[in-house]
Amino acid sequence: MSADANDGTADRDRRRAAVRDEARRFARDEVAPHAGAWDRDQHMPRALVTRMGELGFLAGPLPVELGGGGQDNETNVGVYEEIGRACSSVRGFLAVHTGLVTQCLGDHGSPEQRERWVPRLARGDLVGCYALTEEGAGSDVASLASEAVRDGDHWSINGTKTWITNGGIADLAVVFARTGPEAGRKGLTAFVVELPSEGWEALPLGVEPLGHRASDHARLRFTDVRVPDEQRLGDVGQGFTIAMSALDHGRLGVAAGAVGIARACLDEVVRHARERRQFGQRIGDFQMVQADIADMSSETEAAAALVARAARAADRGDPDTTRLTSSAKLFATEAAQRAADKAVLLLGNRGYGNGHPVERYYRDIQGLRIYEGTNHIQRLIIARSLIGRP
Ligand SMILES: Cc1cc2nc3c(=O)[nH]c(=O)nc-3n(C[C@H](O)[C@H](O)[C@H](O)COP(=O)(O)OP(=O)(O)OC[C@H]3O[C@@H](n4cnc5c(N)ncnc54)[C@H](O)[C@@H]3O)c2cc1C
Repeated sequence: MSADANDGTADRDRRRAAVRDEARRFARDEVAPHAGAWDRDQHMPRALVTRMGELGFLAGPLPVELGGGGQDNETNVGVYEEIGRACSSVRGFLAVHTGLVTQCLGDHGSPEQRERWVPRLARGDLVGCYALTEEGAGSDVASLASEAVRDGDHWSINGTKTWITNGGIADLAVVFARTGPEAGRKGLTAFVVELPSEGWEALPLGVEPLGHRASDHARLRFTDVRVPDEQRLGDVGQGFTIAMSALDHGRLGVAAGAVGIARACLDEVVRHARERRQFGQRIGDFQMVQADIADMSSETEAAAALVARAARAADRGDPDTTRLTSSAKLFATEAAQRAADKAVLLLGNRGYGNGHPVERYYRDIQGLRIYEGTNHIQRLIIARSLIGRP
């Protein structure tokens, strides 16, 4: 390798470390101290979005020509991990706003669409949401029933979406609807809907979420919402492909967020194992407790390595990126769930009360196993990419 190439690699590594350090500092000082209260209040301040915009986290992964930081995936996963270590609601905001909406517009928007929305999303002046799921269409995205009917140079959208993160606070929604008689995935098209729009309503979910309580989740009802054709994202019939390509960005962020939860659980357990004394010694001196700590540590490192491998594959444009990303999401979220389970047990009654962060990690991790494709669906993607579809 030439000296130049070495310098380039060293520069990139320094930049990557600097971005991670900034995210770690932000998460430690500006998120972690408030995460418990935000969870209890079921709300996080809007100023946090502006702050993430100022720090460059919202724009980081966007191409430089769109005003972004041009960061590669290997850098981004560091940001998601650090923020996820402090608060899954904030990390979830980032995964949706940046991963599913802003990057999706960057990838699939026309030059006019990018110019109109991407810089404002990247600064945090606008908040985005991604409206795919419906009551009757969760894992089976292609069965969604929302409809968009062409009416001259406009479309009229009707339908109801559910469990939409940022749904009640968003200024802009990427909405997926059926536009043609073609069955399944071929009949879907994506639209950008500016909010509020006439005929649009954000309704309460009607249930208390188990985790991600500081996130905003809503049902979105569209009744004859008129959207000009220039707000169609991509071609008619391309909606399914756009939805899935957005999820490739999002899933990597979810996987990295899970590594953050696993590390946070390990931190709490190690601290407690050093301090808590029973039977005349530190509980960390009992071999059964050591075995749990060793398993948590090893699985967390394995998850981090798999996330980094998927991120590098995405950066290279490797055709195996989707499979690796699904493996990273599957393994990291299951490892983090085991870590949270062990953390609650090892903290004893402290971990069972809502004053302790491990109780929140235990609730939050369940969401990461469900959204952006449940872990059953990740297994389908992995297996089908190996054995092919019938
Ligand atoms: C915290 C949170 C935030 C969310 N945010 C958003 C958002 O911003 N935007 C959005 O559009 N959606 C969002 N969702 C919705 C989420 O994406 C869906 O809940 C998810 O895709 C699963 O759909 P479902 O819940 O309807 O489960 P279903 O699809 O009904 O699945 C039920 C069970 O059956 C299993 N299953 C289904 N099909 C198969 C199969 N073929 N093989 C094996 N098992 C299968 C599933 O794995 C699951 O265990 C969010 C959900 C949560 C919990």
